[in-house]
Amino acid sequence: MAKIIKKAHTEKSVELRREFRRKGDPNSGFSFAVSDRVPILAIPEAEVNYNWCLQHPEEVDDLGIVEKVTFGKVSTLAMCECGEEIWLTGRYYNTTQCPNCGRWHCSTSGQELNPPDEWTEMRR
Ligand SMILES: [Zn+2]
Repeated sequence: MAKIIKKAHTEKSVELRREFRRKGDPNSGFSFAVSDRVPILAIPEAEVNYNWCLQHPEEVDDLGIVEKVTFGKVSTLAMCECGEEIWLTGRYYNTTQCPNCGRWHCSTSGQELNPPDEWTEMRR
């Protein structure tokens, strides 16, 4: 059985964006990633769009710097019997294989399981 180091949980992350909304259409607009509150215009198209927004206040409302809050699931971190730290992501039928020793674990409990090729169908 893998030893649970940290159980699965949800993490909040906050990202700052510079945003503009089209007037009359709250579902449409422009959003730019920022660094130190300055837009990151990594591609020429982003710079064109950003400058267009600044030059067309009749078309878009400047929302300034906006906080975008997201929540993401973080998988359980466990220590395999072999000593390898593994993330129990459960991508294969809620199981995870250790990349070091090949053991399979239940991604909820950390319990070691037989390899999938030894699984048999449940009979009623
Ligand atoms: Zn292992």
